[in-house]
Amino acid sequence: MAAEAALPAEEEVIIVGAGQSGLAAAACLSLRGVRSLVLERDDCVGSLWRKRAYDRLHLHLAKKYCALPHAPHPDDAPTYLPRDDFAGYLDAYAARFAVRTRLRREVRSARYDPAATRWEVEAVDLATGKVELYAARFLVVATGENDERFVPEVPGMEAFPGTVMHAAEYRSAEGMKGKAVLVVGGGNSGMEIAYDLAAGGSLTSIVVRGELHLVSKEIWNVAMALYPYLPVWIIDKLVLLMCAVVFGDTARHGLRRPAVGPFTMKLTTPAYPVVDVGTYAKIRAGEVRVLPAALKSVRGNVVEFADGQRHPFDAIVFATGYRSTVRRWLKSDDGLIGDDGLAARSYPEHWKGDNGLYCAGMVRRGIYGSCEDAELIAGDISKLLRPEQEQGSNTAGNKPDSNGS
Ligand SMILES: Cc1cc2nc3c(=O)[nH]c(=O)nc-3n(C[C@H](O)[C@H](O)[C@H](O)COP(=O)(O)OP(=O)(O)OC[C@H]3O[C@@H](n4cnc5c(N)ncnc54)[C@H](O)[C@@H]3O)c2cc1C
Repeated sequence: MAAEAALPAEEEVIIVGAGQSGLAAAACLSLRGVRSLVLERDDCVGSLWRKRAYDRLHLHLAKKYCALPHAPHPDDAPTYLPRDDFAGYLDAYAARFAVRTRLRREVRSARYDPAATRWEVEAVDLATGKVELYAARFLVVATGENDERFVPEVPGMEAFPGTVMHAAEYRSAEGMKGKAVLVVGGGNSGMEIAYDLAAGGSLTSIVVRGELHLVSKEIWNVAMALYPYLPVWIIDKLVLLMCAVVFGDTARHGLRRPAVGPFTMKLTTPAYPVVDVGTYAKIRAGEVRVLPAALKSVRGNVVEFADGQRHPFDAIVFATGYRSTVRRWLKSDDGLIGDDGLAARSYPEHWKGDNGLYCAGMVRRGIYGSCEDAELIAGDISKLLRPEQEQGSNTAGNKPDSNGS
């Protein structure tokens, strides 16, 4: 039971979520001399990378696209950062910009008080159960796209005798050698987990129902490099040409490509291309079996699929995505956040709502998008708070050096 709350603590800006988006927003504000407080449910910053990502994860984009504002990765950092390095980078980033963070604070409600012209935020200290009240003129929602695990309901699953987990709980193939494992979902996580399992000696199957664009890291980095210079339709054609050379016809192995090109798809839909980490070679070699139909039911250890196939498994990993929980606590209907808990408007109109409400990292543009949002939000807040300062320069204050250390 939550205890009684004290008077609200006044802040200039409250940021909800201490992932890369929240940290970047706090740093950009601090560089403009604006004080903010970050409320984070977990007990660390960057918890996605520490607690909800598998061991072999490396960032899919080269490091130059994965640096937060004002802190490039050093020259000797690996091109594709391992998960733990990126988590360490976020720790160092928070320390370097003196980000004020309250950990283990779950925001349960945030509403705008028009009389007081401020946001009133209620958070629970998960360590003590105490309710805390905060008030601020500005509120930044930075709770990410990967909050609550989504697992589809499958009749009979509750009696499945083996291991069932979400991708967020999967760490490695340890203990799975020789076991028949089903991965459900052909996104980036599902495909990489399938690779990891097969490499670790599991008899691996993966359910890939929809269409997907398989690309390689190298091809995608070429596409990213061309983006400022070429129209998107040309980038799509070049990417597909390179993919045809590298992969051949992926549909022959159960991976059908959408009609819309990969770069257009990334910019205009919630779907990301899948960056191949070696899974495709394993599919071609028969070490990963692609199953095309949804799970229909489970009887004992046998899974029945919608196309009538039946196969026994020892374990099932659901790489079926996440849901945002923002709509549960944000009491606002200004159209900034949609019914799915993500930005309602598309890029680049997505980041600013009414009455000092903003969102960062909620429009499926990855780390790169978090950075852009942070700069825009900090610039806007600073302009509203201190117009004279913003006119002179948009980054006053302690400028960090350029090597990220
Ligand atoms: C396995 C995996 C690999 C990925 N790899 C890449 C990649 O290589 N490149 C890339 O660009 N993107 C990648 N992504 C996409 C990735 O989600 C985003 O880039 C990034 O993590 C989003 O950062 P964020 O700060 O917006 O959200 P998050 O990192 O999810 O941070 C949000 C924070 O908000 C907190 N929170 C949520 N609700 C509340 C609440 N009510 N009160 C208080 N705190 C709350 C959460 O605890 C969390 O710490 C990957 C995603 C996954 C799942």
